[in-house]
Parts: sequence; structure tokens; C-alpha cells
Amino acid sequence: MSDSSIPTYADTRKIFQQEENISGDLDLTRLPRFRKTLANDQGTVSLELKFMLNDAKQRLITGRLQAQVNVFCQRCLKPLAIALADDIKLALVRDEEAALRLDAELDPWICEDHKLDLAELIEEQLILCTPIVSYHESGDCIAQKDYVAGEDATESVTTENPFAVLKSLKDSDSGD
Ligand SMILES: [Zn+2]
Repeated sequence: MSDSSIPTYADTRKIFQQEENISGDLDLTRLPRFRKTLANDQGTVSLELKFMLNDAKQRLITGRLQAQVNVFCQRCLKPLAIALADDIKLALVRDEEAALRLDAELDPWICEDHKLDLAELIEEQLILCTPIVSYHESGDCIAQKDYVAGEDATESVTTENPFAVLKSLKDSDSGD
């Protein structure tokens, strides 16, 4: 599956009636708002979307997304790899008013014209399922003295005495 399999827009006049499936990988460069919450550009986002009409002729978008990305650990402020996964169940509506009339189990996705921006939809779901704060496993935080800027240091686990590490953190406080 390549990035090119995910079109920029889907035509809402066709995809539901034709019960289309769209799946593949999305490059992080197509998700600029989500990208801003990440530590770097390394990562993958894959998705699987199904479009259909239910008995009430509501336009449903269901599916699943999965992502492997790097966020900042809120303890040591260094990159931390996390996995995200979310089930998608949305109903496409034209405006806020239609959104209010939806059943409680359906989340609205508002699209005022015929062009459904797929990356925008996925981006919003990714942001919603990303934890507000993430931390390395206890003890896995990267001591500043072991960290070389620009290097992928996710595997760098210190085996030193934690008090020595704390001391070295204090000593290097003035910057690197
Ligand atoms: Zn950490």
C-alpha cells in the first residue's frame, strides 16, 4: 500500500452509494496539524475506511486507523515512540444542525460540499486518540548527558545509579 492510494478528496456524491473502501498509508507530511504535536517526522499512519448508507440513509464512515509515531516524553522531553489505534464511526452531515439530530452513538463529521478531505478527517481522529501526556517507562527516561541532539535515542537506557543520573542532570542544567 502506498501513499498514492489515499486520494486528497473523496466525492461524497459517490463514495457512500458505491460503498467504497479506501485503505493505505498516509505520509505525516499530509497531516501538518498532527505533525506539530510530534517529536519528529519518523512514523507511519495506516487506515482503512468504509463508506456506506444505513437504513435511515445516513452516510456512515467506519473503519480503523493505526499509527506509530514519536511524541515528547513529558518527563525528560525527549522522543518517545507510541502506538495509536482507533476505531472510526462517523456520520457525514452537512451542518451543525444536522449534527445535533444524530443518534448519540454516531459522531458527526461536517462536510458542507461534495469534497471530503480525507487527510483532515484522519488527522482529527489521530489528534483525538493521542494521549495528552506520555512518559517513557519508569527508568527509561533519557539522561541529558547520554543524549546527543539529533540522534535517535529511544533505545538509550541508562544503567547508572539513579542518584548519579540526577546529579548529572543538575550539573548539566546550564545547557549543552
Ligand atoms: Zn522520558
